[in-house]
Amino acid sequence: MSVVVLKDKCIGCKLCVPACPYNAIEVVDRKAIIKDNCTGCGACVTSCKKDAIISEGQKAGQSNLNQYQGVWVFAEQREGRLADVAIELLGEGRKLADQLGQKLAAVLLGDEVESLAGQLFAFGADRVYLAQDPILKHYRTEAYATVVADLAQAEKPAIVLYGATHVGRDLAPRVTRRLRTGLTADCTELDIDNESGLLLQTRPAFGGSIMATIVCPNHRPQMATVRPGVFSKPEKVEGRKGEIVTVPVKIAEKDIRTTILEVVKEAKQGANLEEASVIVAGGRGIGNAEKFKLLDEVARLLGGEVAASRAAVEAGWLGPERQVGQTGKTVRPKLYIACGISGAIQHRAGMQGSEVIVAINKDPNAPIFTIADYGIVADVHEILPILKEELARLKD
Ligand code: FAD
Repeated sequence: MSVVVLKDKCIGCKLCVPACPYNAIEVVDRKAIIKDNCTGCGACVTSCKKDAIISEGQKAGQSNLNQYQGVWVFAEQREGRLADVAIELLGEGRKLADQLGQKLAAVLLGDEVESLAGQLFAFGADRVYLAQDPILKHYRTEAYATVVADLAQAEKPAIVLYGATHVGRDLAPRVTRRLRTGLTADCTELDIDNESGLLLQTRPAFGGSIMATIVCPNHRPQMATVRPGVFSKPEKVEGRKGEIVTVPVKIAEKDIRTTILEVVKEAKQGANLEEASVIVAGGRGIGNAEKFKLLDEVARLLGGEVAASRAAVEAGWLGPERQVGQTGKTVRPKLYIACGISGAIQHRAGMQGSEVIVAINKDPNAPIFTIADYGIVADVHEILPILKEELARLKD
């Protein structure tokens, strides 16, 4: 990448001079000059308050933003099974594409994965870009990033969405860098600005104390990751058809620096909270690890799982794999019972999509009541034994 000074915008303020770690800028006659030892690192681009220094890619891109059309979803799959988050993103992607009046495409990479295309159409894709080759059998950063970035460069989508899974979190930044665009991680809301058509990417910021809406006005594609469970799955329309575009895979094994010798599956620890239809969650108000057992019993009677706030996890009452919230899991069960949880914004971020929320808290002003469908102002230690008894009676 090289950088360019827009002479009409440069005011000779010299802010870029100390910003350059390579001493590659000087100001002559009140205009910045880029010297031959510039590495194109871009530090000066961000330092310029007048947008007078841009990267070459940006210069080319700015005049061509309208060429970028369509919404893409990275259709993550493992061993031929689509990740739930890919389906959730198809639902959200469909809404965005319809708002823009553009097409929704799924980008499917793997080995012999064509049979998944039908599902992608059924969940809303108009088109599936299909790259299949033995080299793509397992996820490897270089191979996947090359295929997705090359494809995006050729086809020019306006928006690309990835699940914030281990794979998505690794892939999306690599593609971002190659396309010299921006990426907003862990979005909790996506929308289209009616006037500008820009993607509005909302996510918690400053430790979750505010929600920030981020736009990417000068670069394409606009890219975002979204954690599993943030959006609900769309309805499946069996028999829905679309177009399959075969993507030639031009990479060779010698171009990839990693080799997969063996895949060792780790036994899954604990519950899959994201898939539980009932969650009974406890917070600091539960008091100790021993008392969490009652929550577990109630959860079992309801056929659900037990979960915790960060305060309870930090106290060591439950494992971190059961934490719900901004730095834990995002869940959307049919029923979420919050026991002795205040409802801090960081906790709510992980459970507010639940269908029905019941809160038990002795403080009538606890914020959890602002999102609860049913609120019980009481001591949780009085309510839970009654609930358990009643559920056990109903089971008999
Ligand atoms: P408290 O806020 O202490 O609330 C305890 C509640 O229990 C009170 O409302 C009290 O009235 C009630 N209570 C007490 N005794 C009883 C009783 N006997 N019967 C009924 N009610 C009772 N938090 C998360 O949960 N998940 C996250 O992922 C997360 N991520 C975070 C990320 C960042 C960057 C930061 C800064 C914070 C994060 N937090 C997260 C922490 C969050 O801000 C809160 O501190 C935390 O959620 C509080 O947990 P709590 O509701 O259990 O405890």
